[in-house]
Amino acid sequence: MYLMLLGAPGVGKGTQAKVLEEKFNMTQVSTGDILRAEIAKGTELGKLAKSFIEAGNLVPDNIMIGIIGKELDDRDLIFDGFPRTLAQAEAFEMMLEKLNKKLDFVINISLDDKIIVGRLSGRMICRNCGQSFHLQFAKPKVDGFCDLCNGELYQRPDDRPESITERLNNYHSKTKPLINFYEKKKILVSIDGDKDSSEVFKEIVKVMKGKE
Ligand code: AMP
Repeated sequence: MYLMLLGAPGVGKGTQAKVLEEKFNMTQVSTGDILRAEIAKGTELGKLAKSFIEAGNLVPDNIMIGIIGKELDDRDLIFDGFPRTLAQAEAFEMMLEKLNKKLDFVINISLDDKIIVGRLSGRMICRNCGQSFHLQFAKPKVDGFCDLCNGELYQRPDDRPESITERLNNYHSKTKPLINFYEKKKILVSIDGDKDSSEVFKEIVKVMKGKE
């Protein structure tokens, strides 16, 4: 099964992908995580991506299409953060066709910009396992450390206010049109993201069961 999570930054795509991985033995393909790993390793790709990411801009399509091409195989995949432009979505469709695969469904998690800004600006991520916390809404048990693996928590550089505005602008101008793209293909279901993450998860499961 190939499942795609669509939505602005901060709507909870990563959180949902992690629970889906755990409960359904699926594999999260987070292009943001892939890029951050390249940055941490100091590779050429990482160096190139860093400037785009920290400014809140999208990494060029050709790079992203190359990255996703290497991930497609027979595992059950959850696409988190890809595609982010129509060009990526179209290239993705062609790749799937060549591999004789299909995207089973797309979950669009919707959330008001104001709530997104609040979520992103207090977000803290575990450097070790990627779990996210929030300084107000989902505090870790011990300040600065992950509840799951005791890893160190940090604020992503692109979760600073200047980058957040740019990321949201990019979402509205470049990524949001994908809702219409997948709606036309009749594989998109929208879910309200302004709920507890366990409620959002239940809704995703309902959609998945409905498609079985
Ligand atoms: P994320 O962790 O999904 O919020 O991604 C962090 C950053 O990585 C984004 O703000 C972009 O700069 C970059 N990025 C991740 N996925 C993509 C993509 N599919 N296309 C372009 N840039 C991406």
